[in-house]
This record gives sequence, C-alpha cells and structure tokens, in this order.
Amino acid sequence: MLGIDIGGTGIKGAPVDVGAGALTTERHRIPTPHPATPDAVAEVVAEVAAAFADVSGPIGATFPAVMKAGVARTAANVDEAWVGTDVAALLGEATGRPVTVTNDADAAGVAELRFGAGRDVTGTVVVVTLGTGIGSALFVDGVLVPNTELGHIELDGTEAEAIASEHEREVDDLSWKKWSKRVDAYLVELESLVWPDLIVIGGGVSKKSAKFFPHLKHVRTEVVAAALHNDAGIVGAAVLAR
Ligand code: BGC
Repeated sequence: MLGIDIGGTGIKGAPVDVGAGALTTERHRIPTPHPATPDAVAEVVAEVAAAFADVSGPIGATFPAVMKAGVARTAANVDEAWVGTDVAALLGEATGRPVTVTNDADAAGVAELRFGAGRDVTGTVVVVTLGTGIGSALFVDGVLVPNTELGHIELDGTEAEAIASEHEREVDDLSWKKWSKRVDAYLVELESLVWPDLIVIGGGVSKKSAKFFPHLKHVRTEVVAAALHNDAGIVGAAVLAR
C-alpha cells in the first residue's frame, strides 16, 4: 500500500508493509509548493505517487486539517482554498487511483497505536504531534475518536499551537528548556480536559525527546516519545486506506 503524508514543508510517500507497520523502501519527498493551493499540492502528490508506479491499489494520504468523508473542513495551517475541497476526489483524479484521506495526526496516531509507542495500551491515549501546528489523535481502548483538534486548546487566551508547536520553537529561536515549559503547560491543560492514561509525543521532534522530556515537570500523565517518528503519518495513512 502506498502512503503519502502531506505536510506544511514536505510531501512524502513510500510503500508500506501494513502488516509490519514499516516502509518497504526509502521514502520520496518533494517540498510542499508555495502557495500550497489544492491544484499545486495535487500535482506534487501525483509526482510522489508516480515515483512508486509499481505499487498498485488504493493510496492512503494524510492532510493537516479536519477531514470529513474526504472533504477538508478547516484550514488552520493550509491555504484557505482547501476548506470545502473534496481532497480525496482531487487526489484521486490527479493520481488516477482511489485515495483515502485522513487527518495527519489521526493517521500518525493509528500507526503509533498499532505498531509504536501506544501498542497494546488500553484506556485513553492521546497522541500529540508537534510540528508546523499541533495535531492530536484521541483513542479509547485503541479506537480512534477522529478530528479532535486539541492543538487549538487555548493557553491564557492564545491557541496552544501558536505557542508550543515545533515551528514556534524554531521561529522564536527558543532554547529547549524554554520551549519545553510551553509544551509542559500545554500538556497540563490537555490532561485536565481529557485525563488520558498515556500521552504519546509525535512529529519529527519526537526523535529529540531527550532534549525536552526532562523539562516536562508539571504534566502528571505518563509521556512517551512516538516510535515511528516521521514515518507514522505514511504508515497510518496506508493502514487506513486498507
Ligand atoms: C490542524 C490539525 C492538524 C495539525 C497538525 C492543526 O493546525 O488544525 O488538523 O492535525 O495542525 O498538522
């Protein structure tokens, strides 16, 4: 199965062994076009799919917005033109193959729950992805509650993702300690609303958990780093397309 992860900076795809939860070859990455309009993105997705023309069958894709039956309903970090766009139909037309589209954090969460840090964990698990924005995936006994959008929780009147995303760490040139305090405050707010049994931190920054986990001093829930890191979206998208 081909999985394609549409992100703010890159569009990445790879064939996935959906039984093992692993990529079968190196992924192919093309920078996200700017402006990231529906047609421009669809063209790049088609290019990524063409790089794996030998992988037949439906494609699973992620998209960083609320996804309802293939249609994008929000555009917090993407071009406004996406709201109301039937992303599944658009990408299906561009690639010539059936495409299933899932919210990026939900797809990453599905991969982590099935193959990664949340494997076999029961109870309430929240997977939080720290990237361009903050994404969330909520699971109860392994079952996904889709489109939770918990990155938009407010901290002192400001959306959490505008304060504690990985993007904010980079643009504000924050030290790991300073940024971790923001992440910690966010997780405290999150846990007071959801009371999870486990929080999994995903996104590319999950590879650097040793730099910031020691500074997460106030969150009471167990916090672990994602295991599939940046591949989680591709793997989860492919699993869901299945
Ligand atoms: C969007 C979510 C998305 C997250 C991570 C947020 O701004 O609202 O849908 O999952 O960014 O990309």
